[in-house]
Amino acid sequence: MIKKFIDKLLGKSPAAPGGKPNFGKRMEIPVSVHGIDPSLVDDRAINVVRALQQAGFEAYVVGGAVRDLLVGLRPKDFDVATNATPEQVKGLFRRAFIIGRRFRIVHVVYGRGREHEVIEVSTFRAYLDNAAAEQVAGNERTSKSELANLKHAVDSTGRVLRDNVWGPQEEDAVRRDFTINAMYYDPETQIVVDYHNGLKDSKSRTLRMIGDAATRYREDPVRIIRAVRFAAKLSPLGFKLEPKTAGPLVKSQKLLHDVPQSRLFDEMLKLLQTGHALASIAQLKELGLATGIYPLLDVVVERAGQSFVEAALKDTDRRVGEGKPVAPSFLLACVLWDDVRKGWDQRLARGEHSHPALQDAIEDVFNARIGDVSGRGKLAGDMREIWLMQPRFDKRVGSTPFGMAEQPRFRAAFDFMRLRADAGEVDEVLADWWQEFSMASDDVRQDMVDQVRAEQQQQRKQAPKGPRVAKPPREPRATDAAPSGLAEVALQGATDTGGDAPRKRKRRRRSNASRGAGSAGPAAE
Ligand code: ATP
Ligand code: MG
Repeated sequence: MIKKFIDKLLGKSPAAPGGKPNFGKRMEIPVSVHGIDPSLVDDRAINVVRALQQAGFEAYVVGGAVRDLLVGLRPKDFDVATNATPEQVKGLFRRAFIIGRRFRIVHVVYGRGREHEVIEVSTFRAYLDNAAAEQVAGNERTSKSELANLKHAVDSTGRVLRDNVWGPQEEDAVRRDFTINAMYYDPETQIVVDYHNGLKDSKSRTLRMIGDAATRYREDPVRIIRAVRFAAKLSPLGFKLEPKTAGPLVKSQKLLHDVPQSRLFDEMLKLLQTGHALASIAQLKELGLATGIYPLLDVVVERAGQSFVEAALKDTDRRVGEGKPVAPSFLLACVLWDDVRKGWDQRLARGEHSHPALQDAIEDVFNARIGDVSGRGKLAGDMREIWLMQPRFDKRVGSTPFGMAEQPRFRAAFDFMRLRADAGEVDEVLADWWQEFSMASDDVRQDMVDQVRAEQQQQRKQAPKGPRVAKPPREPRATDAAPSGLAEVALQGATDTGGDAPRKRKRRRRSNASRGAGSAGPAAE
């Protein structure tokens, strides 16, 4: 009591540097108070909890799922926390895999293919500051693997480096970030276990960091980005960052420099791909974090007001809201398209050929903007394809459109072109044509191509003699609103494939179902 009073006088918060954290008081809240609708709880999560409990372990649904259930949202995924070790968890399920090096958890897998569902099971983690780490290290019961994990548990700046020491639930709770993310729900008894007044904060719509916020940002600077993300996600429900949680955000931002690029990249994608991209950008600006978190995110925030990028962000939010898949390649291709277009145009102006000019412009953009984020091969490959397919939308004669529509990335490239049309960069008629083409039967497709060819021949007859690139009128092209060089190339492309010589046409007869038409949309990977 007296100590608390003195701490208060000194302005020490519960988890102030060097101080012991406040583990809180365990509260068990019945359904009559928290009101969670059990029908919103995933059956597979219930199954995992039950299996663990029947084997004699403690187990709960935890974290974001409990937070979402409390405010009436349907959780996007379910995490389970238990006092069973990863090996013990794995032993209980047929399809369970231990994953992660920094943070070992178990994935319990249900279902197959696109329908498969993963329940993440983590073992209660111990709270460890350096002093506590030394104490555990000195304990003869500490195993070799635990000892290895303990080395440098916290670095000189207070960053937590090792997270695989098991501990009791109260310690697991204090290590979590926000009070509303630190509750445990037992689907069997419908009791919520709460150590840090998470339920109270949830009711008063408060986003509060557990312990001293500045210390917690130092331990793991990614919590800064998480603060932005949850503020954005929960703002429509009236949630606000509590002043002491928001206060140290700006001055803590520089700590992000020491976070591995790949982790920052992943967190950036979570900001942009979980259905709250526009709200997250608004929060970044409001909180004074519009620049400096991650270079690529700076570009996104800077361009969020451009009609094309804004349309892409809106579209991503809409799709996530509708439960449709989204791919980072699509959104990033939209964000960086301006750079690709400019680079391409400059190269064309220097007299380079269209295709290599576009390829080189893309390479430049990767080097300048994406940097060295390893393991991004597929992402980069998909972005490249979306961009490289853009000029091909101008070629609507011969066999080109048939080949295009069969490409695995056709749908993403088409959706990209559709957004360009929405932004006034491409003629709507061209986008409509491709939409129609992608959905049509083979015979209708052939008729559409024949019609384009006839129109082009007609236009050529009517046009006065002159240089090819200056022939008006002409059909609208994907690159109409693009810099002059692109339009020229597009025109040339169309002329190349639409020559006057009559050609034998191969009729393609394939079932509609075998085409990409109407597939999962922009982001489907
Ligand atoms: P989402 O709905 O976006 O999945 P979430 O809260 O479930 O939100 P996850 O990243 O899935 O977020 O993390 C699960 C839980 O793990 C969190 O609710 C929180 O309790 C804890 N957690 C995750 N990251 C951190 C962190 N960096 N520091 C402390 N606790 C964390
Ligand atoms: Mg989660």
